[in-house]
Amino acid sequence: MTTNGATVAASLESVQTRIARAARDAGREPAAITLVAVSKAHEVEAIESALRAGHRHFGENRVQEAHGKWPDLRARHPGVVLHLIGPLQTNKVRAALALFDIIETLDRPKLAHALAAEMTASGRRVPCLVEVNVGEETQKAGILPADLPQFLTLCQGELDLPVVGLMCIPPHDDPPAPHFALLAKLAARHRLAEVSMGMSGDFEDAVALGATSVRVGSAIFGPRTAP
Ligand SMILES: *Cc1c(COP(=O)(O)O)cnc(C)c1O
Repeated sequence: MTTNGATVAASLESVQTRIARAARDAGREPAAITLVAVSKAHEVEAIESALRAGHRHFGENRVQEAHGKWPDLRARHPGVVLHLIGPLQTNKVRAALALFDIIETLDRPKLAHALAAEMTASGRRVPCLVEVNVGEETQKAGILPADLPQFLTLCQGELDLPVVGLMCIPPHDDPPAPHFALLAKLAARHRLAEVSMGMSGDFEDAVALGATSVRVGSAIFGPRTAP
């Protein structure tokens, strides 16, 4: 399905308005929430529309796809902040650190070690969010809530990684609110400022429960074609 430029700009504005309303309803400053426009599986034309509308924070879930799209877009539009929101394999760490400005999916010790080594080698320190498996789903990526203190000790203490927050993707079939509340509580407990949670279907709940960034794809760019 194609989405034209005017539609993307209008959808962006409508999502921003809904974020602002949810923030005010919760007694929060709308400016405290960053909208990350998730452009995975969308063409550069749609992304250009968002860039022309002034949007700068974008999320991609695959390193290779992002490499194909973003170097050109960045060259034309200064100030882009690119978030990696999908799983990162250790053999793609170097490429990811060269391209992304925030890694939201730090989800295992092996990756923490690889990121630390590459940040030292390249001299480029990229802020990271730890992905928490809030629903304790066996097949899902992320650190279990009970293992978070130990993982943070590894990342921050031993490896000196710039961990700035937490991120989660709640179980598909659960109401998201308890999971959002848990993530916000864990971030506060560990004095981590950034809380990335909420997607097209539930970003207002996430804002109400303390998200500092929401990751919204289809509500901005329209439905994605199946992979
Ligand atoms: C695709 C994706 C999103 C956006 O999903 P929508 O439902 O299209 O808003 C958010 N977060 C992650 C991790 C994703 O992979």
